Amino acid sequence: MSGCVFCKIVAGEIPAQIVKKSDGIMAFTDMNPQAPTHLLIIPTMHIGSLNDAKDPNLLGSLLTFARELAKEKGIEMRGYRVVVNTNPDGGQTVFHLHLHLLGGRVMNWPPG
Ligand code: 5GP
Ligand code: ZN
Repeated sequence: MSGCVFCKIVAGEIPAQIVKKSDGIMAFTDMNPQAPTHLLIIPTMHIGSLNDAKDPNLLGSLLTFARELAKEKGIEMRGYRVVVNTNPDGGQTVFHLHLHLLGGRVMNWPPG
């Protein structure tokens, strides 16, 4: 989708540190990391938010992708957090569906 920063990363028009790719999904490092490990997992197809994601298989694949990355980064045993900020109250700032994978430090609860 033109004007979407994550679609531009998918198209290679904006540089990003890409960590993993598979069919229809990719992961790259967040440019403003909030934890020692902070990756963003996105569908390569433009989907605005979790509200717009109609395919349950895709949602399952995104979550599985996040879990695989946590294992590959060696944070699965200590623990990690997967976050999907959705719309303004949820803190979403980029309107292309993405999962945050955060780890490498203790997470607080409740979130801010
Ligand atoms: P949201 O607030 O929508 O849940 O998260 C958007 C995330 O995307 C933020 O953590 C922000 O740092 C990250 N981000 C925004 N623009 C870019 C970019 O151009 N490159 C990368 N790597 N991350 C970005
Ligand atoms: Zn997009």
